[in-house]
Amino acid sequence: MRLPMNTSLATLKPSGIRRINALAAQHPGCIALALGEPDFPTPDVISAEVTASLDRGDTHYPPNNGRPALREALSAYMGDADLTFSADEVILTDGATEALSATFMAMLNPGDEVIIPTPAFGLYESIVVANHAKTVFLDTEPAQFQIDEEALRACVTPATKAIVICSPNNPTGCILNAASLDAVARVAEQAGIYVVCDDVYNRLVYVDGYERFAQRHPELREQTVVIESFSKPWAMTGWRLGWLAAAAPVIAEIAKAHQYLVSSAVSFEMDAAARALTVDPTPMLEVYRARRERVLAALDAMGLDVVEPAGAFYTFPSIKKFGLTSEDFCIKAIKEANIALVPGDCFGTEGHVRLSYCVSDKNLDEGLRRLSNFVSTL
Ligand code: PMP
Repeated sequence: MRLPMNTSLATLKPSGIRRINALAAQHPGCIALALGEPDFPTPDVISAEVTASLDRGDTHYPPNNGRPALREALSAYMGDADLTFSADEVILTDGATEALSATFMAMLNPGDEVIIPTPAFGLYESIVVANHAKTVFLDTEPAQFQIDEEALRACVTPATKAIVICSPNNPTGCILNAASLDAVARVAEQAGIYVVCDDVYNRLVYVDGYERFAQRHPELREQTVVIESFSKPWAMTGWRLGWLAAAAPVIAEIAKAHQYLVSSAVSFEMDAAARALTVDPTPMLEVYRARRERVLAALDAMGLDVVEPAGAFYTFPSIKKFGLTSEDFCIKAIKEANIALVPGDCFGTEGHVRLSYCVSDKNLDEGLRRLSNFVSTL
């Protein structure tokens, strides 16, 4: 006899990204333009702090929400971006992943609905479903990956508890414009729902005029949760460090979930985290910016349509004209051209692939050459 486990969790499919990576691994020399993590090392000044912390014996349980000095630093860092949260309204987490888990665990009751504009990072759906809540997907493709107010309104029901937005977006690289942010604010205010802002790519923006939801709509702070990460701006994906901020009554509940899930982030990474906040990520940003130009020029030469990305390190070109599913396109690209991309289907949007530029210039150029040859055969 097999005792039943979480039946909501059982409905989730294994990640398509993993399938693509497994296939790519069987093809020696495959160039992966599929990765979502910086190809830079963590800056030495940050790593050195861990050695110092270990030498000092900083290896015991820290305060659950992170050390007070670090939370002060996080509060000040957010203040520099016009986001006003006190140190008591910040929790250091085990990556944005745990921040999202703790937030939804604290927020959701069985049967609640969460609006997820698609394309979207797959984790949102998994966490919502694992908490016995329901996903309501809002297709943003017709609005060029912006949020159309009427379409959003149509997603709201009495069961709606939250909307999760991600700007710059994974997988499109697009940022939400002022009209989209205002639409979210109006609907959230009227419906009395939470706005969970996945801002992990906020330091990786290549255009002027980027605004964050919490910055533009401070009047909704009581119902806003902001999630950030050390992973992307400082190339610290393996450290599993992030944070979240919300108004005190909301933080009090999320703090419980955080404590139940992981107790705390890692003690001997906390001084390094504070150091990271003082490191300017611009040099890495400039490298991404140059690669982005190369990718956009190459896609244009291949005749692939793309909504120009403004941030992160992704592009999400359309492959509709080839008449293949995104998964078939990606499998064929690995088998015939030894290049790995991620099917748009993994993000809830067919007819596109995600191409990321977290690879060396040499591999990027070779990858784009292979892609160009491949699409010319279709
Ligand atoms: N949100 C988005 C949109 C992401 O792309 C990622 C990582 N790929 C995360 C959250 C999770 O980041 P972390 O490494 O901080 O857990």
